[in-house]
Amino acid sequence: MLGANDGILSVAGLVIGVAAANSSQSALVTAGLAGLVAGALSMAVGEYISVSSQRDAEQADLRVEADAIAENRRAELRELAKIYEDRGVEPGLARLVADQLMAHDAVGAHARDELGISEVMTARPLQAALTSAAAFTVGALVPVLAVTLSGKAVRIGVTAVLTIVALIGLGALGAQLGGAPRGRAAIRVVTLSTLSMLLTYGIGRLVGANV
Ligand SMILES: [Zn+2]
Repeated sequence: MLGANDGILSVAGLVIGVAAANSSQSALVTAGLAGLVAGALSMAVGEYISVSSQRDAEQADLRVEADAIAENRRAELRELAKIYEDRGVEPGLARLVADQLMAHDAVGAHARDELGISEVMTARPLQAALTSAAAFTVGALVPVLAVTLSGKAVRIGVTAVLTIVALIGLGALGAQLGGAPRGRAAIRVVTLSTLSMLLTYGIGRLVGANV
C-alpha cells in the first residue's frame, strides 16, 4: 500500500516537473519510465535490507532463547508458566500448559509467547522486496500513462487529477481495510499531494525557463 502511494506521488511529481519544463514527449516518457524503474528498485533494495536486519535480529533472539532452554530448561519452564499466569491462567494450569507446549516445541512456545515472534510474522526479505517493488510499479504506472497518453496542452492537468483520484482511491481502500474514517484522510491526501505536485511543477517551470 505504502509502495503504491510512493509510486503514484513520486513519479507524478517527476513527470509534472519534466512536463512543466516544456520537454518533448520522448524526454517525458524516458523520465517517467526511469523514475518508475529507479523507484521500484530503490523500494526493493530498501525493503530487502530492512527486513533482512529484522530477520537477523529475530534469529539472534531465537538462538539466545534456544541456548537458554538447553542450559536451564526448568527456569525457562517457570518463565513460560509465569507468562500464562500473568495473562490470567491459574498457576497449576499455567504450569501444565507450559510443560506440554515445551514438550511439543520448546523454542516455538517461547518465541510465540515470550518474544512475540510467530510463524506468519517471520520476516521474509525477498518477498517483502518483491511486494513493495510491484506496488511501486503499479502506482507509478498511473502518472506515466496519464502523462504519456494525454495531449500536450492538458498533460499536466490530467496527470495531477488522475494522481489525486488514484491516491484518494488508495486511501479509501486503506481506510476500508483499517476501519479508519475516510473523510479526513481524503482531505489530507488531496492537500499534501497537491502541494507536492505544485512544488515540482514550480521547479520544472523555473529550470525550464532558465537552463
Ligand atoms: Zn524463554
